[in-house]
Amino acid sequence: MIRLQQLCKRYQLGDEPVQALDHVDLEIEAGEYLSVMGPSGSGKSTLLNMLGLLDTPDSGHYWLDGTDIMTLKEEARAAERNRRIGFVFQAYHLIDRLTARENIELPLVLTGTEPSARRPRVDELLTRLGLERHANHLPHQLSGGQRQRVAIARAVIRKPGLLLADEPTGNLDSHSGQDVIELLEELNEDGITLVIVTHDAAMGKRARRRLWMQDGRLLKDERDAGH
Ligand code: ADP
Ligand code: ADP
Repeated sequence: MIRLQQLCKRYQLGDEPVQALDHVDLEIEAGEYLSVMGPSGSGKSTLLNMLGLLDTPDSGHYWLDGTDIMTLKEEARAAERNRRIGFVFQAYHLIDRLTARENIELPLVLTGTEPSARRPRVDELLTRLGLERHANHLPHQLSGGQRQRVAIARAVIRKPGLLLADEPTGNLDSHSGQDVIELLEELNEDGITLVIVTHDAAMGKRARRRLWMQDGRLLKDERDAGH
């Protein structure tokens, strides 16, 4: 599904160049569940942003479902991103003045899906994520765990093959965090490829495959037997 070859990304921090990704090679198969761990500044978010087509590498190759991403123009990259990839962030990034339902259906609205086609899909997700009673609530009326569930529903409403989560439980207490992780894992069991960036070793260990980064390099790539 994903193949990265010698991927590099440098940022300029003041006068100092920072090698955020240093010749990263990585292959991910459809349906895998990976965590990405490592110290702050090791390149985890940069890797996720590259996988998610939110940022462009300086050099190297990236194939996503056979498409050579490096050859795409910005518009085509955005189309691939919207079609294939869902994102979940630590800070939820919901739209404050839209209800839970409206936040969840927004990606369908933006792609011109008819209301009659949107409604059943949104209803199905609201039920599945235990949010029926909160459908008409605004984000500020929801708990952190509920907000993140809304963000997850929005991320998967267009049925992407790849779900990228950057510290998805970073703002949650351990109980709501556990709920959110279990929800992400259920989506993975249904087939979505899941990549979670986390500081939390206990959470990282739950993944069937675990990557460790340091100074922009992939230091370790560890899998459970049988996967
Ligand atoms: P992590 O997610 O592991 O904390 P990041 O991928 O966020 O690491 O950052 C890797 C390195 O790249 C860090 O040194 C960070 O300061 C730098 N970096 C990341 N994004 C930017 C940016 N937009 N501008 C400048 N430097 C950046
Ligand atoms: P969750 O059920 O998502 O795990 P929590 O355990 O964080 O939620 O919160 C339990 C309940 O407390 C929620 O159902 C919610 O109604 C309420 N609550 C928690 N935090 C907030 C908040 N910041 N604003 C409004 N209600 C909240």
